[in-house]
Amino acid sequence: MPELRQNLATREWVIIASERARRPNAYVEERTTPLHTELPHYDAACPFCPGNEELDLEVTRHPLSGPWQTRVVRNKYPALAREGQLLRSFDGVQRQITGVGYHEVLVEHPQHNTSMALMAESDVCAVFDTFRERGLAVSRDPRIEQIVYFKNHGVRAGASLQHPHSQVIALPIVPGEIRHRMEEARRFFDDTGECVFCRMLHDELALGERVVAANEHFVAFVLYAASSPFHAWILPHRHFSSFRVIGDEEISSLAAIVRDVLRRIFYGLNDPAYNLVVRTSPVKEGDSVYFHAYMAVIPRLSRHAGFELGSGVSINPTIPEACAAFLREVAIP
Ligand SMILES: [Zn+2]
Ligand SMILES: [Zn+2]
Repeated sequence: MPELRQNLATREWVIIASERARRPNAYVEERTTPLHTELPHYDAACPFCPGNEELDLEVTRHPLSGPWQTRVVRNKYPALAREGQLLRSFDGVQRQITGVGYHEVLVEHPQHNTSMALMAESDVCAVFDTFRERGLAVSRDPRIEQIVYFKNHGVRAGASLQHPHSQVIALPIVPGEIRHRMEEARRFFDDTGECVFCRMLHDELALGERVVAANEHFVAFVLYAASSPFHAWILPHRHFSSFRVIGDEEISSLAAIVRDVLRRIFYGLNDPAYNLVVRTSPVKEGDSVYFHAYMAVIPRLSRHAGFELGSGVSINPTIPEACAAFLREVAIP
């Protein structure tokens, strides 16, 4: 019998299609595009490779002198404009805000043909350090309400350039997706006096069957109500709601666990496309007792179609516990 499961943090339902469930190894990618490692080390046409830097777009780099490790550049085709006044208008059914904000690209590494799964742990740590730094910088802008940190890896995840990079978009509004999560988390707190994420973390660790990896500061698990194959969350043990307040030791631990999970996905599933998203509370929300910052890893192995659009309910053709066991057992070199 198929099963409907609800994610208590988001209240989203998914159908675990156990009748037609495929084994996790059915998702090992049959590649039509070359593996990242098969690409050249350097690409003369790549704007992110050392030597090709578009300096007019540069926001910052680390280190400031000598060869860089990470760079932040303005997106050449930004979704939002840095300059300009925040103006709101509302007229009956038409609400409008000027499109001010930030759209930055974080070049994660000088090497063209690497990825977070293949980088040294300290390199991944440098990426998250730069995330935090840019988050702190743009959050000082009073026009900004929400920061979205994300990574698209592979064409199916929306990446248009192969050089390893992530993005930071800072918005003058709180998007519905965040508002909805904040409201559900507040409702759970009102009902139980607990943070729903702290509760999930506690229960997942106690059960263990969906845990993929854990370290001093974080735990990674495939969601009970995973909306797609291998959909995982990485939660900090310490309760904090904004990614900007993450500590130095926590950043190192985060780099270690994200790299570990991505290596399991890379070697176990043959480098599929994935998205990485940091969920963090709205900038002006302050430190909230009911919301808990986390990171989502979403391999793009199944497609959402009309049913998902029409219902908001996903059909997951895998069993989350089997996906977690598969990832735990991947032999990583
Ligand atoms: Zn490149
Ligand atoms: Zn919490």
